[in-house]
Amino acid sequence: MVLAGPTAVGKGTVAAYIRRHHPQVWLSVSMTTRQPRPGEVDGVHYHFVDDAEFDRLQEAGEFLEWAVVHGRARYGTPRGPVERTLALGRPALLEIDLAGARQVRQAMPDAFFVFLAPPSWEDLVDRLIGRGTESTAEQEVRLQTARTELAAAAEFDARIINDDVSRAGEELVSLMFDPRSPGPEDMPSGAGPRTDTTRTQLT
Ligand code: 5GP
Repeated sequence: MVLAGPTAVGKGTVAAYIRRHHPQVWLSVSMTTRQPRPGEVDGVHYHFVDDAEFDRLQEAGEFLEWAVVHGRARYGTPRGPVERTLALGRPALLEIDLAGARQVRQAMPDAFFVFLAPPSWEDLVDRLIGRGTESTAEQEVRLQTARTELAAAAEFDARIINDDVSRAGEELVSLMFDPRSPGPEDMPSGAGPRTDTTRTQLT
């Protein structure tokens, strides 16, 4: 399963929730050339590598997908661990950007693609600006990127609204175990959970 979505929608937080609460789900650990942030552990959150090592892995065809994210650093999914996990029949989750998701669609058309969406555009803007870690110019770039990324929702197999991290995480896990389970729109009126926040099957 691939989880993607716009900048700052909270993909990493949902992935962290699943890491904590659903150890049966294997989470791919990406390689990145960016520097670790405080609290990030090499081999757990990312494999932190330098440009030369990333080049070497890229040339050796070791990545299932890779992308430059926000024009700054390279991120890639190591192919071997994903293939070995799937061969064992264990559910695997990749939390990656949109460009990466499109590459996985090419390489593994049987994967299930989930788009994590904000409850509203205003909510996404608040998250981008509220984080306070980027300059105004950088925020504008990210908002423009987010507009393009939101338009990609229709490419995905399902959409989850990140109105609440644990609710979104639980919905993702239930989709992993039964991606074709009926959504509330398939249930008799009033029988499903809150229809404003639950998933919409897009294909
Ligand atoms: P951050 O640097 O904040 O941890 O992640 C920045 C972005 O990189 C997030 O949108 C995340 O989904 C994306 N990302 C993380 N790992 C990968 C990866 O292996 N491949 C791709 N394409 N994107 C990734």
